[in-house]
Amino acid sequence: MASIDINQVSKIYDGGVRAVNSVDIQINDGEFIVLVGPSGCGKSTLLRMVAGLESISEGVVRIADRVVNQVEPADRDIAMVFQNYALYPHMTVRQNLAYGLKNRKTPKDEIDARVAEAARMLQLEPYLDRKPRALSGGQRQRVAMGRAIVRKPAVFLFDEPLSNLDAKLRVSMRVEIRKLQRRLGTTSIYVTHDQLEAMTLADRLVVLNGGRIEQIGTPLEVYNKP
Ligand code: ADP
Ligand code: ADP
Repeated sequence: MASIDINQVSKIYDGGVRAVNSVDIQINDGEFIVLVGPSGCGKSTLLRMVAGLESISEGVVRIADRVVNQVEPADRDIAMVFQNYALYPHMTVRQNLAYGLKNRKTPKDEIDARVAEAARMLQLEPYLDRKPRALSGGQRQRVAMGRAIVRKPAVFLFDEPLSNLDAKLRVSMRVEIRKLQRRLGTTSIYVTHDQLEAMTLADRLVVLNGGRIEQIGTPLEVYNKP
């Protein structure tokens, strides 16, 4: 687990667009933060800066008191879940789950144990030997979650992970993600443009507009403001 300190962070893209503008967020250990706001407000850019996937133009991001850009990518204790799942099509579910651990030279017994545990938590046991193309959208999304879980990271970063699912599945996956996060206690940042999703998932919401924080608080605080 880890706290995250986003300190006066800005992103200025080539051409001068200020996609993120002096953003300050202090995230507690185990907290579930949702970044919400209209398309183009800077959610994804901010998340990618926290992940170390995008350079930070101004300010600093610290995860567990370590400056993100000073930590080698392989040592960053972060797992990210994407909208497009980013599964390897030629690998089975089991291989997809194991891949990130193998890359990090985790012992085989430990990999097998973690894959089995994630498969159990996500009800993927019947599908371990299938390839992604033989899975439904919801099952693929569970594999993507599983790849994050097996790493036992200090931080989960979610980039609109449910937006490719139909409405019904979105609701059930939302509940599932929240339960898993509570059980694991993993500090999380979740990006969405869906207000209902934001409200039901968040410990605290950050409403972005034009790269700036418009509001920050619990769902009740944010949605009860006149
Ligand atoms: P959101 O995730 O809220 O939709 P983004 O972070 O993707 O917003 O984008 C924020 C702003 O930055 C938008 O104006 C977008 O056009 C711009 N932007 C995003 N990526 C780039 C890029 N690689 N180069 C230039 N501008 C970009
Ligand atoms: P991790 O070690 O965090 O599990 P991986 O090593 O599996 O991540 O993947 C490294 C990067 O490659 C990630 O950004 C991931 O999104 C991307 N990636 C993984 N699978 C695919 C794929 N099938 N196609 C394109 N990109 C992928």
